[in-house]
Amino acid sequence: MAVPPDLIERLVRPGIRALRAYHVPPATGLIKLDAMENPYPWPQALRAEWLEVLRAVELNRYPDPQGRALQSELRSAMGIGSGMDLLLGNGSDELIQMLALTLAAPGRKVLSVEPGFVMYRMIALFAGMDYVGVPLRADDFAVDLPAVLAALGRERPALTFLAYPNNPTGNLFDADAIDQIVAAAPGLVVVDEAYAPFTDASFLARLGDWPNLLVLRTVSKMGLAGLRLGYLVGPPEWINEIDKTRLPYNINVLTQASAAFALRHREVLEEQTGRIRAERARLYRALAEIDGVRPYPSEANFILLRLSSGRATPVFESLKRAGVLIKNLDGAHPLLIDCLRVTVGAPDENDAFIAALKASL
Ligand SMILES: *Cc1c(COP(=O)(O)O)cnc(C)c1O
Repeated sequence: MAVPPDLIERLVRPGIRALRAYHVPPATGLIKLDAMENPYPWPQALRAEWLEVLRAVELNRYPDPQGRALQSELRSAMGIGSGMDLLLGNGSDELIQMLALTLAAPGRKVLSVEPGFVMYRMIALFAGMDYVGVPLRADDFAVDLPAVLAALGRERPALTFLAYPNNPTGNLFDADAIDQIVAAAPGLVVVDEAYAPFTDASFLARLGDWPNLLVLRTVSKMGLAGLRLGYLVGPPEWINEIDKTRLPYNINVLTQASAAFALRHREVLEEQTGRIRAERARLYRALAEIDGVRPYPSEANFILLRLSSGRATPVFESLKRAGVLIKNLDGAHPLLIDCLRVTVGAPDENDAFIAALKASL
């Protein structure tokens, strides 16, 4: 029996009805440079060793609820001191959701800068919080510090997110500006370091300098996107509260075993992310030489580029016809007009992208 539309209208929250589900475009047969994935596979010997580890995993048992063995691997891999606690999430997206669920109440707000990571706004809405986006500076996507400080005073957000480096712009915000934001914020400030493997900057060592700072990380961009594992680091008092919103056993046994294994062999991932950093420099130089293309400096594993007026969407479509999938950001935000975002791939993928881009211009 058909579901009557008025039943949907009556029951589904208006904010949800107005949404479109997070769209992932099909990429079969395409060179995939749209999702900030690490393009490099593991050496065969390492794969074989990993499969031996999985052989011992007991699928009939629930996972360790806190993922303690994995937490200790993360601590030593990332140099996290004993004064701070960790909380694991099914991707850092789940941790963003736990943060919102912990603080949500009618009229409470989430603040971030824009253009930024879309999940901050989406999850605020899911949790019934209001969202405030403060525009970045138009010329270089830097934080507009006076505007953010004014918004903190006016909106009094319970939760502020800053991606460092920022997605989709790729730049690092000024660390002094972030200091001032954390000091002025009436609520929690989460510095989202999803792109930590591609920059030397971090606020991890600054944890404890303020009572309201947390750092969010993920293993996705370093080369383990398929595992879905994020971690939140901060003072035990906060982690203890946020942990109450975690669904039981949120990190499955295969992820716990595989991530712990990968972190024990992190030199392989570090070598790969090092190659991606070198490729990023080469790709940037190649883009900067093309007439009508303006790449923005990036500390992440992607590059934002602006084309001449009206060219972004036709070029995006032409790249796709040529077998290269990137991200079209034209129309995503007023500051991203004529912009595309390309993930740094393997050298041959980047070459194919550059060739297809030149051909389409
Ligand atoms: C990709 C990304 C994430 C999400 O990472 P997952 O751990 O894969 O959920 C979080 N924050 C930013 C800024 C990102 O770009």
